[in-house]
Amino acid sequence: MIDTDKEKEIISRLHERIRNDGVVIGEDVLKVDTFLNHQIDPVFIMQLGQELGQRFAANGVTKILTVEASGIAVAMAAGLALNVPVLFAKKGRPSTLQGQVYVAQVFSFTRQGETDIFVSAHFLSADDVVLIVDDFLAHGEALQGLISLARQAGARIAGAGIVIEKSFQHGGDAPRQEGIRIESLAAIASMRPGEIRFLSEG
Ligand code: 5GP
Repeated sequence: MIDTDKEKEIISRLHERIRNDGVVIGEDVLKVDTFLNHQIDPVFIMQLGQELGQRFAANGVTKILTVEASGIAVAMAAGLALNVPVLFAKKGRPSTLQGQVYVAQVFSFTRQGETDIFVSAHFLSADDVVLIVDDFLAHGEALQGLISLARQAGARIAGAGIVIEKSFQHGGDAPRQEGIRIESLAAIASMRPGEIRFLSEG
């Protein structure tokens, strides 16, 4: 819910950045490389992550969970806002990741291929209340993978905080139906080159 002027201002700046800087590729990929996915605008990303964190401030979150690489910056900002550690799932298992791990298979929408994502069991447990954070929610593969990792650990899921949800790809539908709270700062109803419509605009 948007209930303060500051929140409204951040959301409207995000809409503006998406409209001004965003490049729509085909009908389903949005490039926001100027501030989120390649080059990062630190001040703005801090504000976005802080806003996401604040929406879950009353939920006893003990850990932020995201997936490398483009979720990390905003997850870090949310972790700073809630003063909790930030855990990022690794794509592929590096030799340094030893001992018990949780693993989930994720189909990457932008890379068009399957990847296994891993976290060490050392960093996620049944005592944790997890806030999942990511840059985009599209078909929901990454989110479902992160939900699976949290569940394998027996952790409770406070919800998911997303910077940009492409609502027309419906990745949020199944988790919402299961009762998982998803907060998206910007929700795109439809897009094509030169025209982006946000859900909030009706
Ligand atoms: P999903 O798993 O929900 O289909 O896609 C989410 C993941 O794919 C995000 O972590 C994000 O990195 C990437 N992604 C999905 N759609 C887009 C998009 O339109 N633009 C960019 N830059 N990344 C996307």
